[in-house]
Amino acid sequence: MLPENILFSSDPSADLNHFISSRQYSMITVLVDENTRKNCLPVIEKQLPDHELIIIPSGEEYKNISTCISIWQKMTDLTMDRHSLMIILGGGVLGDMGGFCASTYKRGIDFILVPTTLLAQVDASIGGKLGIDFSSYKNHIGVFQLPALTLLFSGFLKTLPARELRSGFAEVIKHVLISDSEMWARLSAKRISEQEWEPLVLHSVQFKAQVTTTDPKEKGLRKILNAGHTIGHALESHFIALDHAISHGEAIAVGLIAESFIASKKGLLREDELNSIKHYIRSVFDKVELSEEKIEQISRLAIQDKKNRGNKILCVLLEGIGRARWDVEISVDEIKESLLFYRDQT
Ligand code: NAD
Ligand code: ZN
Repeated sequence: MLPENILFSSDPSADLNHFISSRQYSMITVLVDENTRKNCLPVIEKQLPDHELIIIPSGEEYKNISTCISIWQKMTDLTMDRHSLMIILGGGVLGDMGGFCASTYKRGIDFILVPTTLLAQVDASIGGKLGIDFSSYKNHIGVFQLPALTLLFSGFLKTLPARELRSGFAEVIKHVLISDSEMWARLSAKRISEQEWEPLVLHSVQFKAQVTTTDPKEKGLRKILNAGHTIGHALESHFIALDHAISHGEAIAVGLIAESFIASKKGLLREDELNSIKHYIRSVFDKVELSEEKIEQISRLAIQDKKNRGNKILCVLLEGIGRARWDVEISVDEIKESLLFYRDQT
């Protein structure tokens, strides 16, 4: 079952029009970046009532307070009042930041998320986390707030660059691995180019919505969504510091293999399951080259993970494909061994 504020659409322009007509908004703005303005705005504009555009530059480096100030300024210049609506047409960066701006402007106005990347559709637009980066910390400032509506249209994915598609696919793989062994069998039988996106997005959205509704503030169950992210985040931080960043999805893909190795060493995952995960992920994602020195540094970075308590490294581990356990303590040595396992795969 889907929450009622999440809608799968085959005609986003008509569905937006329908939703807006049922409410009395005083003004409508649409937040876009240069890519979604070009590729996605034409898809929703046809039946959209009168609206103003707010355009910001694309990229994580703009997910900060300066861009928020320019958005709030534009909202103020347009004299948006409390009964106005912001439609956010973009990937996770726009969704997180636009939602944050809308939720704080005049103590909060309605916003609609129209996620246009795979990552935003299956992950960022679900669960109510909004925010921006601050100083060098990701998502450091933010709020929890649900949109009036999340509108999902898989047609947007047609113009998405391959690297962006792969990045979202890592989260799809994660959702399937922690929730559904049969879905894994179907997914892993097809290359990324052969996947049918609609059922996969639906599966991810249903799963994430159910988890985040049960545990909105990440007290327990929601932690399951961090599978692959303990080692994945350490890898991401390492490469960001070196300035040759890998994408979030590429890091999570390595994290999923390495953490599956740890699960199998602990007797939680069978060897054939580990092989299936490893082979499939390696067939989709290029190998990240890791020297022994890098592995040493990455393993130590995992101690900094936000999810840890005290100096214990806490991780989500698969208990067979389709189930996972959270808050499992792992050691720096286990992480090192798992990354050596990853490195030694052909
Ligand atoms: P993104 O928003 O930067 O989008 C990636 C790129 O694709 C951008 O250049 C964008 O302009 C372009 N683009 C978007 N849609 C397009 C389309 N249909 N066709 C062509 N180009 C398009 O990146 P993302 O991966 O969507 O999101 C990453 C962000 O999501 C991060 O900031 C992360 O922190 C956040 N996130 C949030 C949550 C959450 O729960 N709130 C969860 C996961 C990730
Ligand atoms: Zn992630």
